[in-house]
Amino acid sequence: MAIIVQKFGGTSVGSTDRIKNVATRVSRYRAKGDQVVVVVSAMSGVTDNLIKLAKEIMPLPSEREMDMLLATGEQTTIALTAMALHSMNLPAVSLTGAQAGIVTDGVHTKAKIQNITPKEVHKLLDSGNVVIVAGFQGQTQEGQITTLGRGGSDLTAIALAAALKADLCQIYTDVDGVYTADPRLVPSARKLTEVSYDEMLELAGLGAKVMQSRSVEFAKKFGVIFEVRSSLNDNPGTIVKEETTNMEGVVVRGVALDKNQAKVTLAHVPDKPGVAARIFKAIGESAINVDMIVQTASHGTSGATDISFTTDKADLLKARKVLDSIQSEVGFKEIIADEKIGKLSIVGVGMRSHTGVAAKMFETLAEAGVNIDMISTSEIKISVVIDLAKGEQAVKAVHSAFIG
Ligand code: ADP
Ligand code: ASP
Ligand code: MG
Repeated sequence: MAIIVQKFGGTSVGSTDRIKNVATRVSRYRAKGDQVVVVVSAMSGVTDNLIKLAKEIMPLPSEREMDMLLATGEQTTIALTAMALHSMNLPAVSLTGAQAGIVTDGVHTKAKIQNITPKEVHKLLDSGNVVIVAGFQGQTQEGQITTLGRGGSDLTAIALAAALKADLCQIYTDVDGVYTADPRLVPSARKLTEVSYDEMLELAGLGAKVMQSRSVEFAKKFGVIFEVRSSLNDNPGTIVKEETTNMEGVVVRGVALDKNQAKVTLAHVPDKPGVAARIFKAIGESAINVDMIVQTASHGTSGATDISFTTDKADLLKARKVLDSIQSEVGFKEIIADEKIGKLSIVGVGMRSHTGVAAKMFETLAEAGVNIDMISTSEIKISVVIDLAKGEQAVKAVHSAFIG
């Protein structure tokens, strides 16, 4: 008897009809005699709407209360999914993250899973139930409700698959798998049959929201092989797994555009040891993730530089508050925020063994009249910050140059 973990995202449970479809799919696996654990997201739009409500009350709400609020989205879906299975005469029990034994640290809205003790899940499976677990949420040792960051139901599914030593982990979504670019932006994008953890990790971290990047990190660490596939049909999806030698033959596996980044520039920062450390320590302590960092050369004799970095738009207000609080101590002149940026990236393990990739990307952007604001590279990716308004045009041009 196999243990299968199936995760259904927001669109896949976006209406009661969709939830009934999920129940039908689950029942097919159940009929084969397998034990099925279902992880569900909030119905599509629900999490965004809860965030909107909170911001109508105050711009920077308490993160503990945000978690209390956001965790309700998934709680609605688990109960409805259990009912849909009951209506088909299948025994099913819904569990919150805490009831499923998911223990996290106390970093509200971005909590990390510390351990999972799926005793209750095993017990319910062994007595013949389908177990439905609320994605995206957990509980601290002290009993505080936490959430795992946007898209966090993916992490719930992968982490449960690891803890249960599941035989199969399927991530059901609203596209047929992982594509060479977001198929909604680039119509010529192709579905990948397989992709390595490292490539998926970069793509996810760079804006391909089909998988939450932390969930991929977790899968790599614990060797969880998973499939991304559609909840709307039976087409085979994309297998995400450890790199194989033939994967290096392709230079660029995928192209991603992240429209949710903002750029923060600190103007006129004193050019002396310890300043950058002070700034990024304060940012890091507030659990704000920073990606690209660029420091310009000292301005003439003034002994000052500009430091720019990118971060999630959602963290911008918090970053500004932190920077305001250290401005006089550090002595920079001004904080300039720019939300109209896009981060465009190409990713592929083949870049390790091929040259001229950056030049080709920059040439393609030049031909498309797209100016490059910041550049960052790693062994298997090149990212550039560009004008948001040109993002979609740029992603199409770069996809066509490298992938066709
Ligand atoms: P779910 O609610 O199922 O978690 P998401 O909306 O989080 O689904 O992720 C699925 C979406 O990711 C797709 O609808 C697609 O527009 C987007 N996407 C971005 N990049 C890619 C990519 N490279 N391959 C597939 N989908 C992508
Ligand atoms: N509902 C959460 C979100 O919208 C978690 C998820 O869907 O994975 O981010
Ligand atoms: Mg998602």
